[in-house]
Amino acid sequence: MKFFITGGAGFIGSHLAEHLIADGHEVWVLDDLSTGAMANLDAIVEHPKFHHRIGTVTDEELVSELVDRADVVYHLAAAVGVKLIVERPTHTIETNVRGAEVVLKAAAKKDKLTFIASTSEVYGKGVKLPFGEEDDLLFGATTKSRWAYACSKAIDEYLALAYSRERGTPVIITRFFNTVGPRQTGRYGMVLPNFVQQGLAGEDITIYGTGDQRRCFGYVGEVVECLVKLAQEPTAIGRVFNVGNDREISINDLAALVQQRTGGRSKLTHIEYDEAYPDGFEDMDRRIPDLSRLVDAIGYRPTMHTEDIVDRVIEYHTETGD
Ligand code: UDP
Repeated sequence: MKFFITGGAGFIGSHLAEHLIADGHEVWVLDDLSTGAMANLDAIVEHPKFHHRIGTVTDEELVSELVDRADVVYHLAAAVGVKLIVERPTHTIETNVRGAEVVLKAAAKKDKLTFIASTSEVYGKGVKLPFGEEDDLLFGATTKSRWAYACSKAIDEYLALAYSRERGTPVIITRFFNTVGPRQTGRYGMVLPNFVQQGLAGEDITIYGTGDQRRCFGYVGEVVECLVKLAQEPTAIGRVFNVGNDREISINDLAALVQQRTGGRSKLTHIEYDEAYPDGFEDMDRRIPDLSRLVDAIGYRPTMHTEDIVDRVIEYHTETGD
């Protein structure tokens, strides 16, 4: 089959491209290399079934040409990472809303199966755990620019569902929970690559806030497996899915784990949020996916243990020297 991945040089996109090429498919990637990198595609860039274009997902002509060639579209291009989002809210809103608009418009013309990548951020400050796809969404004030990301992704979801209802466009929405693994950069604030880089350098591991906040970390290889399986499942069409791992760990425990696995030279330190982030940030305490809908649809869920995930990320940063 033929697949088109926007944001295919990014963290999740590059793993997905590799997986699809390994399965014998033809893959086109579009990426503006703003947060992605061609180095992420080193393993497949010379493969005869791999093709890429450097460009933006808001380029209607280019997107339309690539959508037309594909059987399935994965729209993963987006502004991501809490730091980037809080520092560049205009860019976040414009890229995320406009990108989905351009991709869906092109996909609707020829009824192409299209995945819209969303995020667990859309659950916002929800307190009813675990988070289910039909739950209410609870965003913070508009003066807190962190929520621009959640809101922009919620608009993408509404738009995709609107295309599905009004035009019959086959769409699948995936809400990624904290996804981690090799190639994720720490540059935009994500916790695990930051901790691992600090641990390997023997620097202080910086925990923001109390560290009692908890997250569930899903391994990128398993998240990609879900994306591939969902594309083969007709009952998934027109629906929203949580995608991730539902094992929780506190940020304090994650820091201690990374400290221990990187040789124990680093100290753990706590930093106030206002020192760590610009204005416009607020954190959420817990975030657990209800995975029953995903498991019902594809009979699979990410289960890799955090210890093993941490070891893979350490291995990656050790190998690349990043
Ligand atoms: N965090 C931290 N130290 C860091 C980066 C992040 O303690 O160097 C915290 C952050 O404040 C949040 C959690 O780790 O509570 C997860 O942050 P991340 O940005 O990876 O993802 P989020 O779940 O916030 O989208």
